[in-house]
Amino acid sequence: MACSHIFVRKRVKKRVEDEARSKGTGTVNMSHMNESQEQFSTKREQEVKGYGIETCFGAGDCPNRACHTEGLPEKMGTVLEGKNLRSFLQEKVKGPLKMHHEFRVSVSDCPNGCSRPQIADFGLLGAERPKVSKEPCSACGACEAICKEEAIVLQGDAVRIDESGCLACGQCIGVCPTGTLVSAEKGYRILLGGKLGRHPKLAEALSSIYTPAQVLETLDRCLDHYRHFSIGGERFGEILERVPYGDQL
Ligand code: SF4
Ligand code: SF4
Ligand code: SF4
Repeated sequence: MACSHIFVRKRVKKRVEDEARSKGTGTVNMSHMNESQEQFSTKREQEVKGYGIETCFGAGDCPNRACHTEGLPEKMGTVLEGKNLRSFLQEKVKGPLKMHHEFRVSVSDCPNGCSRPQIADFGLLGAERPKVSKEPCSACGACEAICKEEAIVLQGDAVRIDESGCLACGQCIGVCPTGTLVSAEKGYRILLGGKLGRHPKLAEALSSIYTPAQVLETLDRCLDHYRHFSIGGERFGEILERVPYGDQL
């Protein structure tokens, strides 16, 4: 932490000295500092594009991936781009645009949520829900051992899934050697309205598991909701407190 503070201070010092040099002097005064600060703020504002997408590291062959769809973040980017969020925020926000005004999207390929979709405006958690097939169970216990939620109930060679405890991580399906546990549903849980800041709020999950096409459709509808009900460019979670998703869509 100390190192990063020193690094930031050095960068600020260099910026102000550069500003003074550009005015033909080696001596720094308050006007150089103010001008440098203004240029910095303008540059930061230009960097705000109105939305941001973050993904987890699942693409690096993470063994925990429950669902992954090639190109989904890019397709979400196209939906976001189509909503002209930067111009929208410029109209709505009083004062300069800042990064925290942006609509944040986060995609995680499993319930571990490494990209923190719980604090994004629109978050995804990859999910695979298991079911018990007709194939006989060998009572090897592998599913019970891997389930961190204790959602597998084994009684001899009879296996049952406790749906209320299952997080749909899909791990038990991968270790079952007999095909007794198979995939019932694969896709994404959708989380809406998370944020940090002065009044942090965890996103709330919609009730189903959604296909990639449904994810894109839901994102499109959420963005329309966001644009329609925004008063001053506030975060999606604050809008949802006033007008819940589903009430008006
Ligand atoms: S969210 Fe899951 S799939 Fe993505 S990096 Fe984390 S553990 Fe791996
Ligand atoms: S999907 Fe995950 S949480 Fe659900 S029963 Fe299987 S291992 Fe447990
Ligand atoms: S992993 Fe498959 S075979 Fe082994 S106990 Fe679980 S359901 Fe039965």
